[in-house]
Amino acid sequence: MIKVTVWNEYVHEVESEVIRAVYPDGIHGCIKEFLQTEDDLQVRVATLNMPECGLTDEVLEDTDVLLWWGHKKHGEVPDEIVKRVQDRVLRGMGLIVLHSGHHSKIFRSLMGTTCDLRWRDNDRERVWCANPAHPIAQGIPAHFELEHEEMYGEHFTIPNPDDVVFIGWFAGGEVFRSGCTFARGLGKIFYFQPGHEEYPIYRNEYVQKIIKNAIRWAKPTFISEDLICIHAKQPLEK
Ligand code: ZN
Repeated sequence: MIKVTVWNEYVHEVESEVIRAVYPDGIHGCIKEFLQTEDDLQVRVATLNMPECGLTDEVLEDTDVLLWWGHKKHGEVPDEIVKRVQDRVLRGMGLIVLHSGHHSKIFRSLMGTTCDLRWRDNDRERVWCANPAHPIAQGIPAHFELEHEEMYGEHFTIPNPDDVVFIGWFAGGEVFRSGCTFARGLGKIFYFQPGHEEYPIYRNEYVQKIIKNAIRWAKPTFISEDLICIHAKQPLEK
């Protein structure tokens, strides 16, 4: 069983009737709904307004993969919580950063760069699969369309990813590294661009499939304590 925590700042859906109509149970509620139909996933949610942002030591230690959606209130996530999440990633927890999470404190601190990008309102996006052999691309066609999505364009100020799994093309002509993987310590990180709050992106079957694939890819690989002891204690073979 993979233990998943879906974190959402949960502000747009509360403040705006238009966005609440798209995601009546919040973005986290929608993501939880399509994840919990999977037999191998155990899903909980956490939001900014919970004590400790819902990310206590207990919750993080009990999380294999954390999903992160934020936009308006990145600055209100206390540094102490960011540090706690970062430490947990370095020890092996998977992290999936969604859409405007590119500017979250946790993503920027793990990348070490500004994570700035070019953006524009409503456009049509064609998401291209750039690495069909990657586990996150399993079952995804060569390309799929998002009729309405916020445009995110290059240059995306990130360090060179380990893999670029998806590339987004926008009708306005821009392109974007829409699906990127990174490793930090023992943790695997996937950044995935689609997911603007005004459009029902998380109801798209391919977006859902990509997020499910990413969770299975990012789950921790446990290193036995015995192995660590053996390496520390035994001299090299002569
Ligand atoms: Zn957006």
